[in-house]
Amino acid sequence: MTAVLPKLGDMLLALPINGESFLLRRAGKNVLVDGGYKRDKIADVLKHHVRDVHYLDIVICTHGDSDHVGGLPALLDEWVGRVGQLWLPGRWVNVVPQLARDPAKFYNQLVRELDAELKNPSEEVFSVIGAVDGEEVKRGSGQDIAPRPQASDVEPAGEWHDGHGWSLDSEETLSEPEWFHALRRAEEDLANDDIATRALKSARRRVNYRQKQLVSELEIRIARYWLDLLKTCEAIRNLAVAAIRNRIPTRWFDFEGFEKTRQAVGGARGFLLPVNAVEQAAPPTIRALFLHLTQINRESLVFLAPPTNERLGVLFCADSPLGNGPDFSCSFLPTLPMPWLPIVATAPHHGSETNKIAYAHLHKWARVAVLLRTGGSTKQPGSTFLSQHSCLRLCAKCPRGGHAPMLSGVFLPHRHWHPLPLIALGRRCACSVSI
Ligand SMILES: [Zn+2]
Ligand SMILES: [Zn+2]
Repeated sequence: MTAVLPKLGDMLLALPINGESFLLRRAGKNVLVDGGYKRDKIADVLKHHVRDVHYLDIVICTHGDSDHVGGLPALLDEWVGRVGQLWLPGRWVNVVPQLARDPAKFYNQLVRELDAELKNPSEEVFSVIGAVDGEEVKRGSGQDIAPRPQASDVEPAGEWHDGHGWSLDSEETLSEPEWFHALRRAEEDLANDDIATRALKSARRRVNYRQKQLVSELEIRIARYWLDLLKTCEAIRNLAVAAIRNRIPTRWFDFEGFEKTRQAVGGARGFLLPVNAVEQAAPPTIRALFLHLTQINRESLVFLAPPTNERLGVLFCADSPLGNGPDFSCSFLPTLPMPWLPIVATAPHHGSETNKIAYAHLHKWARVAVLLRTGGSTKQPGSTFLSQHSCLRLCAKCPRGGHAPMLSGVFLPHRHWHPLPLIALGRRCACSVSI
């Protein structure tokens, strides 16, 4: 199916792939949020399904899971000169320079960290791999988590249009953080693709070898987790190098900065705002490498395209539970003004039950007209997503329905928001609770 896109009006589409990728057209600009798996070949999907999109003003990667980041490096290489900006997770700041310059040294350190964890697993490793049956697992008490401000303590931010940040229409050139600029200036010092691939393969061999020697379930899980980390490294490296090679201005959005201040900063004024991140990440800190790489999807970047009378409001939830603290109960959303028009939200973590609290956060903050879901496995969506009867639920990929992914989304005819004339296309969710 190829969408015949009306010339005017905003729209949000979930692309018909196995991973997750959304295309937003707003005020005539195009934004791609995530790029599916590598095998989803997102550039081909765009060519076949949304033929009249020739330029992506912003490409965002919300986090390092392979179903979100995998397809982006190849897209940047194919869309040379046709991507305006790239927005990336700030936590990668701590790994990109070495991964780009000296991948062998980087991977050696990562494998050394694996050996140390196998010998004496740290609290951090337990918290990322989760509980293991039959093992005496000493879990973190959680008491080291700093108290979070309560929703009522957070002063709501100002009106949408008073927001700070850069304007998408301005002529001013974006200033990148110095560390990234330094990589660009010395592009010839970056390791080429062959060197990076060889270093990665060697690290993968070593981790596989260790995994085969291991006996306990805990150790095997740790080694398996390291194999996932290597995949993330590959995607991060490829994406950062593609941004440099193709001269794409790149902006960094740091989740930890938001956690400390509870104030999201940056983005494109009135157009697309970070919800749980501060633009321009802090300088590198000294921590174990693997901690910067963990695929903590609960730290996925969340962005909001604020609704106005003429513009479609969209909350891109990625894999986030939309809150943090104990059981993710402290919502990120009250830090934003409350939208007085209904919004469209992408289903948090593909509708997974682990993110069920996100729906409570969402409904407390805004009226949600449509939940647009895509990606995920047969474990998703869960019963909480399926019981969202107050919203239209669209599902580009119903993992239990046995159908091929289908282009799905909503379209807002220009200048006619009231009374909510959203046009839905694609598929209503046909997933059911039972497998
Ligand atoms: Zn995901
Ligand atoms: Zn479905």
